[in-house]
Amino acid sequence: MLAVDHYLKAAARHLGLAADELAVLSTPERTVEVTIPLERGGKTSLYHGYRIQHSSRRGPYKGGLRYHPDIDMHEARLLASLMTWKNGVLDLPLGGGKGGIAVDPTGLSKEELEALTRAFTRRIAAVIGPEQDIPAPDVNTNPETMAWIRDEYEKVLGKPAPGVVTGKPVEAGGSAGREQATGEGGVTVLLEVLKNLGKKPENLQVAVQGFGNVGAHLALALEREGFRVVALSDSHGGIYHPKGLHIEETYQAIHWRSEDLQHTCYCTPGGCSLEDCRALTNAELLELEVDILAPAAIDNQLTKENAQRIKAPIILEMANNPTTVEADEILTERGQLLVPDILANAGGVTVSYFEWLQNQRGETWPEVEVLQQLRDQMTKATQVVWERHERAGVSLRLAAFLIALERVRNPQPNAT
Ligand code: NAD
Repeated sequence: MLAVDHYLKAAARHLGLAADELAVLSTPERTVEVTIPLERGGKTSLYHGYRIQHSSRRGPYKGGLRYHPDIDMHEARLLASLMTWKNGVLDLPLGGGKGGIAVDPTGLSKEELEALTRAFTRRIAAVIGPEQDIPAPDVNTNPETMAWIRDEYEKVLGKPAPGVVTGKPVEAGGSAGREQATGEGGVTVLLEVLKNLGKKPENLQVAVQGFGNVGAHLALALEREGFRVVALSDSHGGIYHPKGLHIEETYQAIHWRSEDLQHTCYCTPGGCSLEDCRALTNAELLELEVDILAPAAIDNQLTKENAQRIKAPIILEMANNPTTVEADEILTERGQLLVPDILANAGGVTVSYFEWLQNQRGETWPEVEVLQQLRDQMTKATQVVWERHERAGVSLRLAAFLIALERVRNPQPNAT
């Protein structure tokens, strides 16, 4: 059973939903599979593409496109379903969708990637659109990919349709603030959770797994808010400094000078010694004795094999599905607080929604306004989830699923 179905089943049991109603709510409304031929080096390679349209009960389908060899119907269905519930928790008037192409993009040139993206867009053009289904970037896709999709879709349609995708470059109709939205949203959720626990961010130690879009912007925002980020990693491994890393410097080095994270150690200003800096593996990072652990890389990182060794009392799920069902049970049993992905990483889709609104209305909002609206929306969602968690005596994850299931089950006409 998919992890998301496990949590939905628990929420349905709690709400007394009949099995047939749950089946309707949890099964995708439409699944689309396409094949895309691509000419490469005198031969034709065939790629498989997917778009899962999970639920449109609250609005157009919304969710990312992932380019990865492992993406298939099964994976896309889990991720599409998560989007339905995430949009429900945030009270956005959107449904859930997800998709992608089974491809290792590192094996293709930029021209081949563009040709593949444009061919995929033509194949799915009939089922996407600003009022039907609005893709966005996900793993291995980026603003440039979205600009190609917008352009190709408009060629098929014969007129402008900027709202067909979100996460576009600002000059191609994207929103200010989208790049940092998921990380910023995660910190807003964390600050609200800490307020409820009577804790202040100053000097709380955080380990962040993943230093891509989500992990880097999360770490930057954590540093700004006074947290001490002591460990960071990427797919090759990580670095640790007990007194805290200097995130802004690290980000500049990685982002602009393409330095390796493992060969970088910028510690916090104020006299920490470089000798205390050490390399560590991703497995070691997850098991550090820190106040907060933020898995912000890939799925299934906290499992039944390592759950007993995870020491952080608070786990902020910034990646999608970073915790297996078994690990969730072990950690919850041990009293560790899991802040679930469908709340913690919803900042991205929230600003995607703002981007879509700007496109539909022909408006351009300044970054400060976008980020303020993001904070307001994330704070409100966290308060509602926390209140339900306390009132019903259930985990934050179950509270989030209960709220989402109720909202998707009984959609309001103007739910925002
Ligand atoms: P990204 O590709 O920009 O970054 C991923 C990071 O994880 C990189 O630093 C990479 O080196 C690292 N990584 C990859 N494999 C790893 C491994 N085995 N161990 C440790 N680190 C590894 O991706 P992203 O956009 O930052 O997304 C990260 C996660 O957040 C994904 O699960 C994604 O679905 C989720 N998410 C992203 C957004 C968004 O707005 N980008 C929104 C919601 C959820």
